[in-house]
Amino acid sequence: MNPDTALPAGAAPGKHEIVLRGMPASGGIAIGPAFVYEREEVYVTERTLSEEETGLELDLLRDAFTRARRELLKIAEYARTQLSEEAAEIFESQLMMLKDPVLVRSLETRIQQERKNADFLIHHEIEKYKALLGATDDPLFRERMTDLDEIAQRLLRSLQKKRLRATVEGRHIIVAASLTPADSILFSRSDVLGYAIDTGGITSHTAILARSLKIPSVVAIHEATRHISTGDLLILDGQRGLLFIYPTAERIAEYRQKIHRIEELEESLKGLVDLPCVTPDGHAVEISANAEFVNECDYILAQGGNGIGLYRTEHLYILEGEFPSEQEQFVAYSSIAQSMYPRPVIIRTFDIGGDKFLQDRQAEENPSLGWRGIRVMLDMPDIFKQQLRAILRASTTRNIKLMFPMISGLVELRVARKHLNDARAELREQGVPFDEHMQVGMMIEVPSSVMLADIFAKEVDFFSIGTNDLIQYLLAVDRNNDLITDLYQEFHPSVLRAIRHVVNTAHEAGIWAGVCGEMAGNPMSSVLLLGLGLDELSMVPSVIPTVKEIIRSTSFEEARRFTDTVLAMATATETKTCVAEYMRVRYPDFFTPVQNGDTCPILGLG
Ligand code: PEP
Ligand code: MG
Repeated sequence: MNPDTALPAGAAPGKHEIVLRGMPASGGIAIGPAFVYEREEVYVTERTLSEEETGLELDLLRDAFTRARRELLKIAEYARTQLSEEAAEIFESQLMMLKDPVLVRSLETRIQQERKNADFLIHHEIEKYKALLGATDDPLFRERMTDLDEIAQRLLRSLQKKRLRATVEGRHIIVAASLTPADSILFSRSDVLGYAIDTGGITSHTAILARSLKIPSVVAIHEATRHISTGDLLILDGQRGLLFIYPTAERIAEYRQKIHRIEELEESLKGLVDLPCVTPDGHAVEISANAEFVNECDYILAQGGNGIGLYRTEHLYILEGEFPSEQEQFVAYSSIAQSMYPRPVIIRTFDIGGDKFLQDRQAEENPSLGWRGIRVMLDMPDIFKQQLRAILRASTTRNIKLMFPMISGLVELRVARKHLNDARAELREQGVPFDEHMQVGMMIEVPSSVMLADIFAKEVDFFSIGTNDLIQYLLAVDRNNDLITDLYQEFHPSVLRAIRHVVNTAHEAGIWAGVCGEMAGNPMSSVLLLGLGLDELSMVPSVIPTVKEIIRSTSFEEARRFTDTVLAMATATETKTCVAEYMRVRYPDFFTPVQNGDTCPILGLG
């Protein structure tokens, strides 16, 4: 039988295909049977112990803690050697909780005084901790709650001698209501094909791990577990956030073709790594990467990234659950600067708030319009100063640039720069070296900063346009609201005009301008951004070769003419159709038409 046309195991030709949409959390495509994972919850009942039983119960409790710590240590060690320091830290935070002497002591005291069984008291005590965290939508708190549940389950399983089941025979796509970080690591040892998860966001620990593990994943599907049984054939498209149940024979063929094309394309682009990103008529564009974690440098270099255009430092906070110390930050920033040396690394100061959580934050009606980005840092001068000192101290490699997020007015920029000057003065006084010529830039992501670009351009060394936020604020469309994704339009004429204005204003003032929002990593926009005159594009590392190849095969002259045509259009429908049509015809190797008449890039989250 021809393996390309044979239906895979689990195919159900009689059933109607169901398509579910979630959020793309880790790229790649998986085709295979489902394994529906239901965590075996452990339940407890309350018992009163006799005096003799009390001593035994104390031993069982201590044993359970020792065993749970040993298990977690092993998982953390595995994560450290096989994945990254960040992955291991997820388990370290659970270990810390397990090592908390207050928890163990209060359980021992309660066993002695109340004479209740250990598993009942563990459950009770952890619920108390959870109640302290309170009911909140804050993703960081939710992660902490998940950590507490994980610990409770681990201890209870140990007491009740039940084993963790996160393992599966054969290659499957794991379907689950939720997946803990430990589950995702344990499953990865069983050679899983992908994760389809009903809950979670792309910043959840599980999504972070899935990306490190390079396991295609879709999260926030909501209905996967309701529709799917173990054995059902699935196609998981981690690139576009799609899940197909009972895919038709045509769909399977289509996706096999896609996988084939992706592999071919990736292979054909390998030779580009060391080539410069220059158009045939000699116009150079800097292609850099957005980095979320310190350990991504090797991959970025392997993809041919020319530097880091955006290092989102808030992930240091998110992983730790608290602001890292000046020294911890110094270590992280120095490590990334050294790994990329001599290529530039743009470190963005903490952009916390909005959809990026801050512990102890008061709930806000409109967090995206609230206390976020530079506003938070200006209200926390000590923490801000620590970060600025850490960045300055790391800058001795002379390849670090600094940028401020969410600047909406000149006073904010000036106050931020004053903190920077104070930090510089302190270091000089202490005789601590730093790069006196470090470039300082700002993000353009609030419409007011577009309008004031000429004023800002006199006070910074560069602009980096954050299209993710700029689009949301310019069009009044929440970037995280899946009800209105159709209105979130990168090619909206107002967005394109805003970018053109910022670039032209920057150039008139003699400074450079880049884009570090997701738009830079959408190959569909590459010619447009080239024609708009952007000096730098910073993107998710996996799409660097595609964007580089498009730019290397397009003359600047052609891009400018095309951009003029598009910018003369009045509606987003016209601009989008024009761009899609142009890109598909001009670069057939990189784009493909999709069913609804749309065009989609072959590589890159679509
Ligand atoms: C942006 O807004 O485009 C950006 C790069 O910042 P973030 O996505 O971190 O808000
Ligand atoms: Mg932003």
